[in-house]
Amino acid sequence: MSINKRIFLSSPHMSGNEQKYINHAFETNWIAPLGPNVDSFEEEIASYVGTEGAVAVSSGTAAIQLALDLLGVSKGDIVFCSSLTFIASANPIVYLGGTPVFIDSEPNTWNMSPRALEKALKESSINRKLPKAVIVVNLYGQSAKMDELLQVCNRYNVPIIEDAAESLGSKYNGKKSGSFGKFGVYSFNGNKIITTSGGGMLVSNDVEALNRARFLATQARDPAPHYQHSVVGYNYRLSNILAGVGRAQLAVLDDRVRARRTIFERYQEALGHIEGLTFMPELEGTMSNRWLTTLTLDPVLIKVTPYEIIEKLAEDNIEARPVWKPLHLQPLFEGSKYYTHEEGYSVSDGLFARGLCLPSGSNMTEQEQDKVVNRVLGLLED
Ligand SMILES: *Cc1c(COP(=O)(O)O)cnc(C)c1O
Repeated sequence: MSINKRIFLSSPHMSGNEQKYINHAFETNWIAPLGPNVDSFEEEIASYVGTEGAVAVSSGTAAIQLALDLLGVSKGDIVFCSSLTFIASANPIVYLGGTPVFIDSEPNTWNMSPRALEKALKESSINRKLPKAVIVVNLYGQSAKMDELLQVCNRYNVPIIEDAAESLGSKYNGKKSGSFGKFGVYSFNGNKIITTSGGGMLVSNDVEALNRARFLATQARDPAPHYQHSVVGYNYRLSNILAGVGRAQLAVLDDRVRARRTIFERYQEALGHIEGLTFMPELEGTMSNRWLTTLTLDPVLIKVTPYEIIEKLAEDNIEARPVWKPLHLQPLFEGSKYYTHEEGYSVSDGLFARGLCLPSGSNMTEQEQDKVVNRVLGLLED
């Protein structure tokens, strides 16, 4: 192994069994966006996360769009969404002609603030324009405060879509993350904790809604012998080849969670003593998959900025990243409504300004972890 081999933020980690499933798909000629791997992958995910069913689709983004479509989101509708997240959480709102309204994080989980949500729902209710859905993101593997968020949403009768793209394998009060909302969404993109190269899953306890999702995801073809269509559909199903990769990956998911948590613990042990450096918390009663080890640097106590660290690490062929840029700060969403956790103070802005994600792939060697630690220590202790 070359000394300067690139250390990625989160790279695909195959189990070795993927090829078997792929070969079987070829041998049986199931080379299509349907087939036995797709059916089994759906059953296995539903059983793992504890929902009544699951629908395998081409991406997490597609799963979010289907969920919004199933909840009746169309032109002119409002959808609430966590601000501190990847753009894919909110783009599907725009695909359907809806308008996103962004909700701030709270400091304990970095996820949606129940207080900001409450304020936003109260105002919407007074204005007689409640959102059609609330998209709650579970960032970097940490579950949001689901009990509090559900309580607020239930009061206004607004459903939650859980964007659990980053939190597959995590738990909240003993239950799997992504299984709390009306719909849950997972992603199997190349950088996620398990991958199919690209793919996603929609989960729910509403089996009828999931059947409707399958219908919509296969061009919404009416049950007629000729090709007849009454509503707009999509071509969003997952390939049977890729579903095979997913099955082999799912079988090692718990190992991947353990590996990422161990990497987090090693970082914490090595860097935790540095004043002004704070790791992303793990809320009591939850278990984060620690998809990415993420931390903040207090600019008063630490002179070097996250950007300087990212640049310096890049010189050593180490990939680190800032925390997601909040969506209310994106040029795309300029002028959007935004509700903060505290009057006049945005938690997500602060996390973005101070946040840093370290390489966290489950296939990192201890040597590679040590290299990252030593470089970061060198930069912080200068
Ligand atoms: C990766 C990700 C998505 C999108 O998933 P894709 O499969 O890439 O479409 C959505 N939301 C979050 C928070 C993500 O990290």
